[in-house]
Amino acid sequence: MTNNIVEVRDMTVEFRKPRGALLAVNHVDFDVREGCVTALVGESGSGKSTLAFTMLNIVNTTGRILSGEVLYGGRNILELSTEELNAYKWKEVSMIFQSAQSALNPLMTIQEHFWETYHVHEPHAKEEDVIPRFRQLLEDVRLDPDRVLKLYPHELSGGMKQRVMIAFAMLLEPKFLILDEPTTALDVITQDYIFSILDRIHQETGVSMLLLTHDIGVVAKVADRIAVMYAGRIVEMGDIFEVFRSTAHPYAHALITTAPSLLDRDEDKEPIPGTPPDLIDLPAGCAFHPRCPYATELCRREVPVLRTVGEDHQAACHHMETFRKEAGIHG
Ligand code: SF4
Repeated sequence: MTNNIVEVRDMTVEFRKPRGALLAVNHVDFDVREGCVTALVGESGSGKSTLAFTMLNIVNTTGRILSGEVLYGGRNILELSTEELNAYKWKEVSMIFQSAQSALNPLMTIQEHFWETYHVHEPHAKEEDVIPRFRQLLEDVRLDPDRVLKLYPHELSGGMKQRVMIAFAMLLEPKFLILDEPTTALDVITQDYIFSILDRIHQETGVSMLLLTHDIGVVAKVADRIAVMYAGRIVEMGDIFEVFRSTAHPYAHALITTAPSLLDRDEDKEPIPGTPPDLIDLPAGCAFHPRCPYATELCRREVPVLRTVGEDHQAACHHMETFRKEAGIHG
């Protein structure tokens, strides 16, 4: 039986906007399994980044956690002191943010970046003693340390910067790595190369990973488990093969079947009708009902809860049996 490295319980997060309260994450329960790559998938605005931010307790700058806890090693990280939280970030958990490359200081070389961060966490270390580690990390992401350590950020290509950020995230040997759309804005070949590097790091170090993406084609290649978010809730999650083979939620099914890499015949692919809901004024019942061809009065009235539909497979839909039957999916 695999353990969970992080357990999120009953998480609800809102952001105050001029029009009202925006519910970004809505009573979510979510586990990240130790040693696995878990993909958190959803359209932009589905709440996946906000949910990931709760795992680092960095929501509070702009939003408010209304309920919930994040358990790591048996402790609720939302209750850690500032010192404990700083040690937890980097040493236990590290995150590569969207557009993380822009976080590099243009006035510092890559070696100075590595040393500045390492020194904050290990104040008694000597730079000459840890340079071999910096070199190894760059080699792990297929960069030449002799050259790259001396360079400034503007001297690196987008793909090289992203590989530096991955090396940087692994600096303090975290046990859990969160990757928020790590290959956005990179060309397809570089994306593929970066995912092969991440896969190798995962195989060699056993680091648990949470990959946030809207690209379900990427998920099929790298993830062991998947959770699909819609309007701040998880609508389906479980083992990747289980979810792909016997999808139980119409939205998850639409995401999977519209992925360019998963079906051969373009004419079979239809975009998901309608647009994502207004998170300040969510539809009653199932938030997907205005876009769902299987919606009934029950869907417009009651929020469906996650129920077990197979071994390591849960989905939240009132009519999953009808949907599966009509879509020709075997449960
Ligand atoms: Fe569609 Fe109803 Fe299922 Fe929501 S609960 S996905 S509206 S069938």
